[in-house]
Amino acid sequence: MSKKQAGFYIDAQRCIGCYSCAMACKNQYHQEPGVHWRYVYPLKEEIYPHRERAWMSLACNHCEHPTCLEVCPVEAYYKREKDGVVVHEQEKCIGCQNCIRSCPYGAPRFNPARHQAEKCSMCYQRLDAGLKPACVQGCPTYALQFIEDMASFDQSGKVQYLAGFPRFPELNPSVRFRPPREPREVRR
Ligand code: SF4
Ligand code: SF4
Repeated sequence: MSKKQAGFYIDAQRCIGCYSCAMACKNQYHQEPGVHWRYVYPLKEEIYPHRERAWMSLACNHCEHPTCLEVCPVEAYYKREKDGVVVHEQEKCIGCQNCIRSCPYGAPRFNPARHQAEKCSMCYQRLDAGLKPACVQGCPTYALQFIEDMASFDQSGKVQYLAGFPRFPELNPSVRFRPPREPREVRR
């Protein structure tokens, strides 16, 4: 494991589903129409059948053992030693889509204009300049936060696998959630 492992924290009790995080990401990287590296998903009604809706804001989880990196035939992925961020070097990508097929979190996306994969690199250039990732910066409710090091993050009341979030312990995704409150009223 790298010395530090950065990650994302999503507080489902604070998220209002406004998509500002996803839009901040699109704006930062001028993503093609239809391509998004971060997206906001409502918790499915089968999982969370309450009147009040709840959301998960998801992007790449910068896994401890990233399968995207393992399956890439041209080594377009690397994991940074200093913070464990998984970076995709688009100039090396041949567009074979192995990473897209292998990632159980749907994080790498296909850019049809460039015929290459692309994904969240946790705004590592911003991190290196002492800034937060654009999505974190863009969240108006502090629902989405940057974790500098998973090892020292206070895990109390948080979970790694929120209901509906795929469970892949062998990848060890660098993400933690605070589950939504249990509201009084159920939808049906
Ligand atoms: S979430 Fe997917 S793309 Fe991101 S590091 Fe893990 S395996 Fe790779
Ligand atoms: S910006 Fe914050 S509150 Fe809005 S959808 Fe994203 S995580 Fe939720």
